[in-house]
Amino acid sequence: MSITVVGSIAYDAVKTPFGERERMLGGAAVHFALAAAFFDEVRVVGPVGDDFGEEELGAMRDRGIDISDIERVAGKTFFWRGEYGWDLNSRETLDTQLGVFEGFQPKLSDTSRSSDVLFLANIQPDLQHEVRAQLPDARFVALDSMNLWIEIARDSLVGAIEGVDCLILNDAELRQLTGKPNLVSAAREILSWRDGNGGRGPSVIVAKQGEYGAALVTRESFFALPAYPLETVIDPTGAGDTFAGGFVGFIAANLDALDSPSASGERAGGGDRATGAPSDDLLRRAMAHATVLASFNVEQFGTERVQSLTREEIVARLHELHAITQFSGVA
Ligand code: AMP
Repeated sequence: MSITVVGSIAYDAVKTPFGERERMLGGAAVHFALAAAFFDEVRVVGPVGDDFGEEELGAMRDRGIDISDIERVAGKTFFWRGEYGWDLNSRETLDTQLGVFEGFQPKLSDTSRSSDVLFLANIQPDLQHEVRAQLPDARFVALDSMNLWIEIARDSLVGAIEGVDCLILNDAELRQLTGKPNLVSAAREILSWRDGNGGRGPSVIVAKQGEYGAALVTRESFFALPAYPLETVIDPTGAGDTFAGGFVGFIAANLDALDSPSASGERAGGGDRATGAPSDDLLRRAMAHATVLASFNVEQFGTERVQSLTREEIVARLHELHAITQFSGVA
């Protein structure tokens, strides 16, 4: 099953207590795609300026990412500058320049429109909306956003969220969006939007909690994982998008287990046969893959670590994460 992603394709300038980079490959769609490409075919949609380098395109191409819907437009590539505090938990945005995203009208190729899975990575919610409308039959659609859009384009963002199956946000942003003081009530509030919306809207909420991990809330269940414990964290930029790439990529690769149910009639661990939605088991395994991918991302600046990552390293860390989240009987 293939995945189409729209979101920022960027140059980032980042300063952390451990060093700085003046101009490195970044952007929500790029971090997402580099992670999701470990699991499935990924098609990136979005504009870059005439300043965007061949080397940066090559980084995506080398991972088998379909870049044919990356449009080169006269002007400057999206630019973001951020600086982190001493413990890397606080981040200040110092500059955001939309560049070629201003006035961008997404025109997806037939190939990008034929994907079964869509990820609306962080960008103006109107653009997310426009892309969503071009894949009306997608089987699984997820969306990420950020505080900026909650502040300046809330109505448009709420409209975009009502058109997706899964919302992936930082937990502080979930509270900000809903005005609810805690994570579970904020997630429940968003799940309830579905009722007033003719049964359309998110049924899966993922709350990213930085170094504390991530939580998954559906109508039926709650699940949480800690972050993989690392002694050295260099740059958290893109961790959330890399997490989303692991999560959505793993779901896309396994949703079709729906079509080959086990002989016993049990759920096959992929899609739920009644609804076509990802089963709880698949969502939980996707959380583990997402957690592992994000943990690699923060070990070096920008996309550097994920660009050199291997499948063997992913599998080894999944085993470690599994081991550290087990405990014996509760009786
Ligand atoms: P994360 O650390 O997961 O929140 O993602 C950081 C990435 O998001 C960086 O690579 C930035 O280029 C990108 N980014 C920052 N601000 C915005 C914005 N306003 N819209 C879209 N992408 C952004």
